[in-house]
Amino acid sequence: MKAPLSQAVDQTCAVIASFASACDATATFPIDALDAMRTTGLLGLLIPAEFGGMNGNLDDLVDVTMELGRADLSAALIFAMHCQQVGVLDRYGALSQREKILPPIANGEMYLGSITTSPGTGGHLLTQDSAARTVDGELRIDRRAPIVTGGNHADAFLVTMGTPEATWPGQVDLIFVHRHQVDLQVLGDWSPLGMRATESVPMVIAGSVPKDQVIGRSGCFSEMATDYFAPLAHIGWSSAWLGTATGALSRVLNLIRDPEHRHHFDPRSELLLTRLASVRGRLEIVYSVLTRSVAAIAGTTPASNPSVQMLVNTLKLSASEECVRAVDDLIELVGLRHGYLTGSTLRLERALRDLRSASLNYANDRLHVSNGALTLMDSRVHFG
Ligand SMILES: Cc1cc2nc3c(=O)[nH]c(=O)nc-3n(C[C@H](O)[C@H](O)[C@H](O)COP(=O)(O)OP(=O)(O)OC[C@H]3O[C@@H](n4cnc5c(N)ncnc54)[C@H](O)[C@@H]3O)c2cc1C
Repeated sequence: MKAPLSQAVDQTCAVIASFASACDATATFPIDALDAMRTTGLLGLLIPAEFGGMNGNLDDLVDVTMELGRADLSAALIFAMHCQQVGVLDRYGALSQREKILPPIANGEMYLGSITTSPGTGGHLLTQDSAARTVDGELRIDRRAPIVTGGNHADAFLVTMGTPEATWPGQVDLIFVHRHQVDLQVLGDWSPLGMRATESVPMVIAGSVPKDQVIGRSGCFSEMATDYFAPLAHIGWSSAWLGTATGALSRVLNLIRDPEHRHHFDPRSELLLTRLASVRGRLEIVYSVLTRSVAAIAGTTPASNPSVQMLVNTLKLSASEECVRAVDDLIELVGLRHGYLTGSTLRLERALRDLRSASLNYANDRLHVSNGALTLMDSRVHFG
């Protein structure tokens, strides 16, 4: 990581670490961490320099998100999801949209939330049960959003809506909506097992926006989703999960190596060494699929190619399954006092609670079914 970027990350991680326990306890959004992302320029990581951003690439997204994940998973996920929205705006937005929207993000004035999940279609990205309507030449949005990370704090959102006059549910638009353009009503509270600081509230969003706030070609969100939106989500989320599991392993290793704890942990114990090897192995596998996925998405083969799709889906599946198992193994290794109690400096119980959400954050069952169908179509078995 280059010096200005690593300084921004260190500064932000210090703020995240100092507020993470309190935000977890109260299930409230880490406003100070977001402020740090604003002032250090991290919100503009993926924005090209010509629009005032940090000109970062996918490798930077992985590195930064992993570092934030070491400090706290909620903050890392907030960051990764924001970057996903920014990446899509930059790739598919018209020049006029990019000129208008990207500079305020790079300046730290605009944090972007995401509204894709719907009550009827759940996490399924490619269809929408709520359609926009054309009213007085504008797009009328009226939609429930069951789970919106940072919904109370985002300055703007990318929202999926069925295209007006759509002839089938797969015609979906991605619409940029500024907070002041719509009424936002919070329908309930957020009281989950983990990921508590994401404050992912249920909302209703209602209002009208000009038609030129549709990002990319109208009705074609599914192409954007397959080519970039979903891969960016899987890369960002997996980096956050891997960062948290990596931080957990690192803290456990420091405890075991601390001479003060020699009487608790025998570094020559074969059981201990076998458990450590298993945890490290899980993380190595995830990191390998992560770096291969980044290379594939940054490469020339379209992400819609089945072998690339299977690779990126496998990233999400393996990261969401292996990272939580790694932390569970670490709890087994260090035992109740260091592993299970909430006050432990190892913070394993919070990591476990947070990582338990990973398989649900876009249901793994959906991805298993999708990868199964793609596997059936590739009898030669090509790797992406
Ligand atoms: C911490 C966190 C933050 C989030 N933030 C946001 C956000 O900001 N914005 C947003 O829009 N969404 C957000 N989400 C939602 C997320 O992206 C998922 O889409 C959502 O959690 C899916 O919800 P679901 O499990 O109820 O729905 P579904 O995906 O519909 O799944 C419901 C159930 O049906 C099963 N199922 C579904 N399809 C199939 C299938 N084809 N085969 C077999 N079984 C199937 C699943 O296993 C699951 O048990 C967030 C989720 C989490 C955990």
